[in-house]
Amino acid sequence: MFLKTYINYISLLFLTKEEEKMRIYTVGGFSEVGKNMTVVETGEDAFVFDCGLFLPPIVELEEKEKVYTEKRLRNIGAVPADYMLPAKVKSKVRAIIPSHAHLDHIGAIPYLGYKYKAEVLGTPFTIEVLKKEYDDESIPLRNRLRTVLPNSSYMIQGKHKKYKLDFINITHSTIQTSMLALHTPEGVFLYSNDFKFDNSPILGQKPNYDLLKQVGKEGVKAMVVDSLYSGDDRKTASEKVARSLLEDVMLTTTNEKAGILVTTFSSHIARLKSIVDFGKKLNRQIVFVGRSLNKYVSAAKNVKMCPFSKDIYIASYRRQVEKILKKVNRNRSNYLLVTTGHQGEPHSVLDRIARNQLPFRFNSQDHVIFSSSIIPSEVNIQNRDRLDKKIKKRGVRIFNNVHVSGHAGREDLRDFVDMVNPQHVIPAHAGREKLLPMVELCKEMGYKSGKTVHLMANKKILNI
Ligand SMILES: [Zn+2]
Repeated sequence: MFLKTYINYISLLFLTKEEEKMRIYTVGGFSEVGKNMTVVETGEDAFVFDCGLFLPPIVELEEKEKVYTEKRLRNIGAVPADYMLPAKVKSKVRAIIPSHAHLDHIGAIPYLGYKYKAEVLGTPFTIEVLKKEYDDESIPLRNRLRTVLPNSSYMIQGKHKKYKLDFINITHSTIQTSMLALHTPEGVFLYSNDFKFDNSPILGQKPNYDLLKQVGKEGVKAMVVDSLYSGDDRKTASEKVARSLLEDVMLTTTNEKAGILVTTFSSHIARLKSIVDFGKKLNRQIVFVGRSLNKYVSAAKNVKMCPFSKDIYIASYRRQVEKILKKVNRNRSNYLLVTTGHQGEPHSVLDRIARNQLPFRFNSQDHVIFSSSIIPSEVNIQNRDRLDKKIKKRGVRIFNNVHVSGHAGREDLRDFVDMVNPQHVIPAHAGREKLLPMVELCKEMGYKSGKTVHLMANKKILNI
């Protein structure tokens, strides 16, 4: 009798303890580069961090199939597998919190967000881009969108208590990127998915090391961390290095009579600024062509983070595009073209120019500058190969990899772990092969695999 009561007492204790634990659902982005989504459950509340798309299967869709529905995107594996979440967890989600404006972090919110009775919290640029995603796909907005300024906090109302959430400014390849620190009774959950430590950003603020250290002192229980390049022994170079690479290519090569076309990530507002700055030095009229460039540039403009908006002409609709490209074609040495298509995406502006589907035709000795690197998926590699062959046939000079990455390298990650000293580390933003070096790094730093550093995969649960 005594034993039975004792066992009951112990299991009751255990249950109470269990209730208080932090449970982390690694929904997506732990088996591939894309469809990032992590859910943190603590007590009576849960929080969604990121809800993005996996882009390669979308790129592969035929143009006529590009009417997206949740079902179609799910069938091709382009959205996170949030069906893994128990109904009781879904019902207690209090906020959806994208870390930045890249589609692999926000792109699935319009398709999955309605399932959660939760508001979406993001920096002004992130929310502005998200609004445009809803608009583009004509999806009704059913979640409240709320902006939180970089380096400020927001109090999220849980069932019975409030949670402080810090938006810690960090640098990456798009503006207003945040590390997110959720303060819970169990300690801080730090979501640091997509960042580099850039101490000379071209646009926006520097990383907020002070706040990161402060959060570290308070006690980080668990950290999800962008480990994509944890296997690269480097400190990722600053955006000022990319600017300098561009300067060399744009200002010190023989190009007076050439047509010059630059292509880069449409969301990379700092890079676009450098391109515009050098275009002005060349005394050329700067023309942006492509819908996604229009989308991100106007989002940046709306949040007053587009210092070059008066220096450019943007063409995104068919007639506008054809009209301006005719002019550029006749008088190419007066213009600088900035277009979409750096991954060789079919139907992008650069791809259509290469296929002779637009009124601008390449001449021999024209310059095409890829201020980008190939995102290494099979479909991108093939697309770029096809594109490069086509434009080389015309005698075009290609300048490749005029770019630096937006992701931290191994030595940044070492400094970061040291700075915030988390109890548990959860490597993210790639499949097993690219996450393993982060596990190794953490082991070097005294963590124990499976105990304090956790190699996860999609659709797994971690109790800590
Ligand atoms: Zn990103």
